[in-house]
Amino acid sequence: RSRYKSSNIEKWFGWKPEDVLGSSTWNLVHPDDLDEAQQFVGNLMNETGLVGTTECRYLCKDGSYKWIEITMMNLINDPDIQGILGNYHDITERKQAEQELTTAKDNAQQSETRLKLATFAGSLGIWDWNVKDNVMIWDDRMFELYGITKDTFPNNNDAWTNGLHPDDKQRAIDECYASLNSGNNFDTSFRVVHPNGKIIHLKADALVFKEPDGKPLRMIGINRDITESIYAEEQLVIAKEHAEQSDRLKSAFLANMSHEIRTPMNGILGFAELLKEPGLSGKQQQHYISVIEKSGARMLNIINDIVDISKIEAGLMTVDIRESNINEQMEYIATFFKPEAEKKGIELSYRTGLPEHKATIKTDREKVFAILTNLVKNAIKYTNKGSIEFGYNLVETYEDNPVETHGRASLPSDGRASLLEFYVRDTGIGIPKDRQEAIFERFIQVENVDKMARQGAGLGLAISKAFVEMLGGRMRIESEVGKGSTVYFTLPYSAKPDKKEPNQIDTFMDEVLQQFKKLIVLIAEDDEYSELFLELVVKKISKKIIKAKTGFEAVEACRKHTDIDLVLMDVQMPLMDGYEATRQIRQINKDVVIIAQTAFGLSGDKEKALMAGCNDYISKPIQREKLVNLMQKFFEN
Ligand code: ADP
Repeated sequence: RSRYKSSNIEKWFGWKPEDVLGSSTWNLVHPDDLDEAQQFVGNLMNETGLVGTTECRYLCKDGSYKWIEITMMNLINDPDIQGILGNYHDITERKQAEQELTTAKDNAQQSETRLKLATFAGSLGIWDWNVKDNVMIWDDRMFELYGITKDTFPNNNDAWTNGLHPDDKQRAIDECYASLNSGNNFDTSFRVVHPNGKIIHLKADALVFKEPDGKPLRMIGINRDITESIYAEEQLVIAKEHAEQSDRLKSAFLANMSHEIRTPMNGILGFAELLKEPGLSGKQQQHYISVIEKSGARMLNIINDIVDISKIEAGLMTVDIRESNINEQMEYIATFFKPEAEKKGIELSYRTGLPEHKATIKTDREKVFAILTNLVKNAIKYTNKGSIEFGYNLVETYEDNPVETHGRASLPSDGRASLLEFYVRDTGIGIPKDRQEAIFERFIQVENVDKMARQGAGLGLAISKAFVEMLGGRMRIESEVGKGSTVYFTLPYSAKPDKKEPNQIDTFMDEVLQQFKKLIVLIAEDDEYSELFLELVVKKISKKIIKAKTGFEAVEACRKHTDIDLVLMDVQMPLMDGYEATRQIRQINKDVVIIAQTAFGLSGDKEKALMAGCNDYISKPIQREKLVNLMQKFFEN
């Protein structure tokens, strides 16, 4: 119960006595302070003579609050007073001042925290250079950025210049002094070399403060690590250049392809047109037909190359690893290319690095054949005089110099690896040093002066290199302009002796062949190299060899020589193909053994050949051993 109310109440709070008459003073206390104030009074009531102080806000008539410090004394037992004596003291101003102070302190703390977080988030190092006294102060991040510790810190301007990259040092220092002199902001970037050799890129920004007389006083700035963005920018530039280059390559490729395909197409269409002319002599016809054939063959080569490169690019090229005798391949390639080399007056020779009985390796025979063919073909193409030698050597490498294997063919894992290193060496025009890497790229050719004379799409080496890598090897070139080139490539090798004894192997074939009666053989083959090869193979078992270049000639030969024992029939011949020729021969001779030579990998050929009346077939390129096996089947006594 409030018994006495000072008139100050009106002066302080604006309430008239009648305003508050009959209502409790508690109604005027700020709701947030009410609990504390009531507790305070409650406590005070418990003990007589007790004095206490509290602070609370009172509502004024104008709606504002005043902070009041209340001091109260329990005088219940005092006979005169018998109540609580209270004294009110207006502390609103003091409270406001206090409040402002805390707010200011909070703000200052917050802004410092914000600054710290921001510099941290931005990985910013902060530095403060007192230019006048040459004293440098760094924050922790600065030490990290320069990769140094506080004990090696020189405390002055050397702090940042010491670590500068030699190529950037003078420029950065000059720029710094230019800012000091002009008062303009320092804004630059440079590289810093850490004591451990690591190089990072920093961006620096700083403000310059001057004395009233214009002398530089202080420089405050931040440094930021921009290594990653510089790197990203570089990568972007590289990626852009790559994209542009591959664009250029594609355009160049298309132009090249277009030329490469048009040229043989013109040959085919042009000479087909000429063939229509009435009254051509047989010789003229043969000539035109041979041009059409050659153009077609060239076209087929280009298409094969494009198919191969597309398969490689699409990751669809597979390897077919089997046992294969590498010496036989060498011999075959030498026989195959000899006429072409001799036509140019170039000597072609080969060398094997392993004896016959050790020359069987596990690899993809067709791919090795394609690689060697490509390289020897290039050697002949780019050599005008001198010689070409190809071959291989056995070399050993060790684990610390391993050869990567990309394909299914892998190296033995005993720490030691054997390799066959193949080479194709020519005395040709050579390749300039700066082009020796590029020629392995797709669609790239060295700009030859007499380019027209040397047709090609620039795909051969790219395909060959991809094949070598699929087989677990590597390809490289050594070349000097005007002197010649040597292309090397490796293949994994694991010695695996043949079942037959070494000294018997060479005589084995001969022994087999001696069991045959001597035969009369008809070789029906339009391609002169293939014909030459077959002749070499069958020479030992034949008493007479007859040759035919077309299906017609083959039928004619059979009609004339009824005693022919064996026909080696190429299925792809001009004018009349091997199937038709076989059908016609069967009408006149049911007994002659006809073996079809089919193109490699075309599965339908086999059935077609048997349907036409062939006894058996053999796929090209023909392996001597297979042919001998067939002979055994049909002619062994
Ligand atoms: P191409 O079909 O043009 O011959 P390649 O990929 O086989 O394509 O070769 C690419 C280029 O490398 C050739 O155009 C040629 O300039 C160069 N080259 C390849 N082999 C030889 C070599 N033995 N001697 C000189 N230059 C060569």
